Amino acid sequence: MDNSRVAGGTVSSSSDSRVFLFEVVGLRQNEETDRANYPVRRSGSVFIPVPFKRMNQEMQRLTRLGGKIVNIQPISAVNGKMNGKAPVKTEPQRKQAGEKSKPMTQAKAKTDIPVNIYRPKDPFIGRCISNERIVREGAIGDVRHLTFDLSGGDLRYLEGQSIGIIPPGEDDKGKPHKLRLYSIASTRHGDYGDDKTISLCVRELEYKHPETGETIYGVCSHYLCHLEAGTEVKITGPVGSNFLLPEDPNATVIMLATGTGVAPFRAFLWRMFKEQHEDYKFNGLAWLIFGIATTPNILYKEELEALQSRFGDHFRLDYAISREQKNQRGGKMYLQDRIAENADKIWELLQKDNTYTFICGLKGMEGGIDDAISAAAAKDGVDWSDFQKQLKKKNLWHVETY
Ligand SMILES: Cc1cc2nc3c(=O)[nH]c(=O)nc-3n(C[C@H](O)[C@H](O)[C@H](O)COP(=O)(O)OP(=O)(O)OC[C@H]3O[C@@H](n4cnc5c(N)ncnc54)[C@H](O)[C@@H]3O)c2cc1C
Repeated sequence: MDNSRVAGGTVSSSSDSRVFLFEVVGLRQNEETDRANYPVRRSGSVFIPVPFKRMNQEMQRLTRLGGKIVNIQPISAVNGKMNGKAPVKTEPQRKQAGEKSKPMTQAKAKTDIPVNIYRPKDPFIGRCISNERIVREGAIGDVRHLTFDLSGGDLRYLEGQSIGIIPPGEDDKGKPHKLRLYSIASTRHGDYGDDKTISLCVRELEYKHPETGETIYGVCSHYLCHLEAGTEVKITGPVGSNFLLPEDPNATVIMLATGTGVAPFRAFLWRMFKEQHEDYKFNGLAWLIFGIATTPNILYKEELEALQSRFGDHFRLDYAISREQKNQRGGKMYLQDRIAENADKIWELLQKDNTYTFICGLKGMEGGIDDAISAAAAKDGVDWSDFQKQLKKKNLWHVETY
């Protein structure tokens, strides 16, 4: 943990009277910990209240004892529990304890869109909690679901936003690497529902150098895909105030994704169906059309299909698996072919004033989508490009391609 940052912002002299709760793992029972006035728990976590002015000293002492500080929070943020008790249980811990999951309450109004809380000159230092390969045997390339711990900072975000990652090292001009943007794959509450994490879905960029034939890996995606849990990462943002899930719980939300373009839609779908909120109960239609190369490459396959089988009345899921399925002309089934098959239905939905379309993934994917829909619109004598301009004006058509 970067000890220059704690919850509530950068440590300043005005914080002197504050007390912080350290969550420490890795402390073994020994003579020194036996003498201390806090228990070493079976779960592996110990919670220790530490006055601001003793923080550095305490960090050094805990490190000497083999402990690793995984979280620091001001005591007020944990309801004043100072007697060594765990502050807030994560969703898996609540489930394990047999507790019912609570409705999400921290939802922020859309008018309060967080942007650029952390800038490249002073990024947030997050810690990688997990790095999971999410393509299966036989897949082309590597894609990872990465989760970062946000405790001890101010970073918050909404579904559909992106964050920046600054890879370590320098570029070929000797300058520090610039940040790369990644769509956020988790809801504002994070994968554990405790508002303390953020997740990304990252494909490792790999290509052959056009002249030498040498295999080249993308700087940041290679760094992220090989990141070990526990590593500190420079995070900026969040950015983006357009690609946001509409608040209307009765909306039709059409999501068109290729590859890692599914990341923001995982966040949308979790918010719509998986989480429970006091102020948002989705009752409209969510339709995801997902273009991907092979079945083992389908990202979040189990999660998506589980949601679809549970919420089939409100969630439709279609794949376009280019290397396995055939389009109507006998060619490869790309996203635009699946859209063309459903163009009449999509066109009908697009004429409603609460249908929002989101396109995310490979640059250039919009062209095929326009072709497919314009044919259906033309049957009604409508010029698609004029109609689409109106949709964009009304904030109903959103594109994020890279
Ligand atoms: C808003 C936004 C959201 C994004 N979300 C995601 C996301 O959710 N997941 C994700 O994985 N990525 C996402 N990206 C892309 C991401 O930002 C990076 O661009 C990507 O990871 C590659 O960065 P890198 O550092 O690995 O590659 P770099 O080291 O920067 O290399 C990229 C460069 O390699 C060269 N190159 C690439 N392919 C070839 C080729 N075939 N032949 C020759 N040269 C080539 C090009 O010059 C290219 O500019 C997003 C981008 C944006 C703008």
